Amino acid sequence: MLDEIIALAKRRGFIYPGSEIYGGLGGMWDYGPLGSQLKKNLKDWWWEDMVIKHDDIVGIDAAIMMNPKAWEASGHVEAFTDPLVECKTCHRRFREDKKGEIQAHEQEHKKKNESIEWTASQKFNLLVKSYLGVIEGKQSEIFLRGEITNGVHVNFKNVINSTRIKIPFGIAQIGKAFRNEITPGNFTFRSREFEQMEVQFYIPPQEEEAMRWFEYWKKDRMDWYIKLGLNPEKLRFRDHSDAERAHYARMATDIEYEAPWGWDEFMGIHHRGNWDLSRHMQYSGQDLRYKNLETGEEYIPFDIETSAGVDRSLLFLLCDAYKKEERRIVLKLHPRLAPYKVAVFPLVANKAELVGKAQEIYHSLQKNAWPVAWDDRGNIGKRYFAQDEIGTPFCITVDYQSLEDQTVTVRDRDTMKQERVAIPQLIEYLNQ
Ligand code: ATP
Repeated sequence: MLDEIIALAKRRGFIYPGSEIYGGLGGMWDYGPLGSQLKKNLKDWWWEDMVIKHDDIVGIDAAIMMNPKAWEASGHVEAFTDPLVECKTCHRRFREDKKGEIQAHEQEHKKKNESIEWTASQKFNLLVKSYLGVIEGKQSEIFLRGEITNGVHVNFKNVINSTRIKIPFGIAQIGKAFRNEITPGNFTFRSREFEQMEVQFYIPPQEEEAMRWFEYWKKDRMDWYIKLGLNPEKLRFRDHSDAERAHYARMATDIEYEAPWGWDEFMGIHHRGNWDLSRHMQYSGQDLRYKNLETGEEYIPFDIETSAGVDRSLLFLLCDAYKKEERRIVLKLHPRLAPYKVAVFPLVANKAELVGKAQEIYHSLQKNAWPVAWDDRGNIGKRYFAQDEIGTPFCITVDYQSLEDQTVTVRDRDTMKQERVAIPQLIEYLNQ
């Protein structure tokens, strides 16, 4: 099924292989006209629910390139450059010298009757290096961020000082991250350039509080993906074992989806303790403690992080929406996510009055900011199927009756039922 989705994504302009005319570049993908709109709809929805609708969460947009010290502080330079072996089954990496962890990991796979094979030991540097500066020989080496999290932590004080926000509060961010993944694959699932959407939620440094917020965000995020239309039966939590938890995490749970290749992670909820802020305090020499102005108490807060992949979320939304019916392929995307909300057709292309009226409707929808498609090729049935395949929820057809009584047919993607709607009522009908 994944092959079919990859083919559809390319054919209809959702996702193309990156720099394809040059033979591609491993782990890179380009989003086409429909894919970029779908991605934008997903991110806008996330931002609306996380930032706009929350009093206690603000957004930022930090630079991709950071002072290299930030990556030493975050632990990535160290964690990402030791000689490591990677498990070919689940892509987790372990330091070669941590034999106990490796054995424990092998046991976990064995318990589930899964095969286990390791890559050769190598110094993996997961951080992508670049050079900043124009004078050859005087350039400084920097990293493209390997996760977007640290752009938030280094701005913790700036956000506190420039807003009136008080703990508990969150900082949200959406942005690109880069990783030298050694085994990119499963379409966009493991890419070398990808996007994340995250909230770092700062709370008082108490384990009880941490538990409460950890559970809160787990539920909140699961509910959100169900609201987006993902089949709840294909969603589950998976707690990280001690051996697999990242260097910064005290508690970690993934939300997994049952992908065509098996259950796999597309977002994580992590209790990061005060790891990040205390490390940035240590490496920057700046005081990053939070001061409770009412009690005078000062502390380094804990951080409960929710970190989701935009590309993985989008991929799973596509997999979940993809339905093969007897006569058609249909993407049952939530209408809010669908790239086009509506398509407009004249019944036939060679009748000027029909085309004129259909154009009028098309332009009036467009002026009202409705993402609308136009099609006048082939027969109506084929046009319906072409829209089903890209998830357009409604198709409007202008026929001969439209010229007489100012009504059109509106066809529903999921039920394939048609209703006659008066043209002046169209926008209200679609809104509903
Ligand atoms: P994995 O174990 O699959 O490598 P991870 O545990 O390293 O992922 P995190 O560091 O927790 O991932 O990143 C948070 C989210 O960012 C992931 O849940 C995923 O959605 C996304 N992500 C991470 N790496 C990639 C990648 N190479 N390609 C696409 N998305 C990614």
